[in-house]
Amino acid sequence: MKALTYQGAKDVRVETVPDPVLLADDDIILQVTATAICGSDLHIYRGKIPDMKDGDILGHEFMGVVAETGSAVTDLRKGDRVVIPFVIACGQCFYCNKTLFAACETTNSGRGAIMNKKSATPGAGLFGYSHLYGGYAGGQADYVRVPKANVGPLKIPDVLSDEQVLFLSDILPTGYQAAVNAQLGPGSSVAIFGAGPVGLMAALSARFLGAEKIFMVDHNDYRLRFASETYGVIPINFDQDDDPADTILKGTDFHGVDATIDAVGFEAKGSALETALTAMKMEGSSGKALRQCIAATRRGGVVSVPGVYAGFIHGFLFGDAFDKGLTFKMGQTHAQRYMPELLEHIGNGKMRPEVIITHRMKLADAARAYEIFEKKEEDCRKVVLTP
Ligand code: NAD
Ligand code: ZN
Ligand code: ZN
Repeated sequence: MKALTYQGAKDVRVETVPDPVLLADDDIILQVTATAICGSDLHIYRGKIPDMKDGDILGHEFMGVVAETGSAVTDLRKGDRVVIPFVIACGQCFYCNKTLFAACETTNSGRGAIMNKKSATPGAGLFGYSHLYGGYAGGQADYVRVPKANVGPLKIPDVLSDEQVLFLSDILPTGYQAAVNAQLGPGSSVAIFGAGPVGLMAALSARFLGAEKIFMVDHNDYRLRFASETYGVIPINFDQDDDPADTILKGTDFHGVDATIDAVGFEAKGSALETALTAMKMEGSSGKALRQCIAATRRGGVVSVPGVYAGFIHGFLFGDAFDKGLTFKMGQTHAQRYMPELLEHIGNGKMRPEVIITHRMKLADAARAYEIFEKKEEDCRKVVLTP
């Protein structure tokens, strides 16, 4: 089959690789019908995720048709159409029982990203996300092995198209979890940093939950324009306004917003050490969004962080967060927890995540697609690839 493989930083290639096979009784083999490129894939693409091996197959946002089932798969049959959550969870361990699927203790044989190994298990296995997270082959491919198939895959009614439901795999639950973590409800105010796919899904979710005033910060005008037209956000371009938090304070009677959402994450420009030094000097871009979030949130408010961070790289004003009595909520998304309810909202027309798609390309052109998405060429918001 064909698959998009990692060959080094900024070097991904579609190659012919062996077809996947069933390895456990509760595996399925999925024939992929649609797959997307995520902002998280860009961390890998930029060479910032350790434990990648040449030839690793990328992709954690995908869906398709069941091609083969293991003998212990109970609810799925050949031919079923399913969306797959990016998190691989067993559904039975200490954490899965708490619906903390991204913390599943049984699916990751890798070392995870946590630095203090004594303090936690490594978190769940992830598709296409390096050997840190179990080294599972990803779904930017013709076929993919899906482990724990009694827990993850969500069946899709035929009336819904691939594009309508594909983002249930990651960015829709991620934006939704960010908004729920931010405790948004009718009348809330919120500032979302980052108008990428995750920030846009957070804006969609904020509106859905009844938030009234939504600020959105980015420097890509085309993304901000889309967000204000689609979700009615108040756009702030940080190239023109270098202190968005100040503008947000002015727009909220100097209280700040009820919650901020950091949908940017780490933007390591150089080595981890350089990034740490920059952050300590409180300048440069690293951690800028997080610092702005702390400054823009009202006393007693929430900073919700879906953006991915790694390691010891941020100098931020923890003292200010303490003084303001802020709550921080963050982490990898417990996708399985939210997928069924979000599918309902798509089904009844209340959520239309597919409107963010700008690029529809063939899997064969995936290398070019990564380049377009990474460089934000052609006003790209989201790329969907079809094998
Ligand atoms: P993206 O790269 O397309 O978008 C990020 C946006 O942030 C860009 O438009 C960029 O211009 C903007 N930005 C950069 N610096 C900024 C700043 N200082 N202030 C405001 N905006 C800034 O990526 P995406 O797909 O939207 O993903 C965003 C983040 O979410 C990534 O870190 C990704 O890894 C993470 N993510 C997390 C989960 C999870 O489970 N928690 C799931 C999916 C993605
Ligand atoms: Zn993702
Ligand atoms: Zn588990």
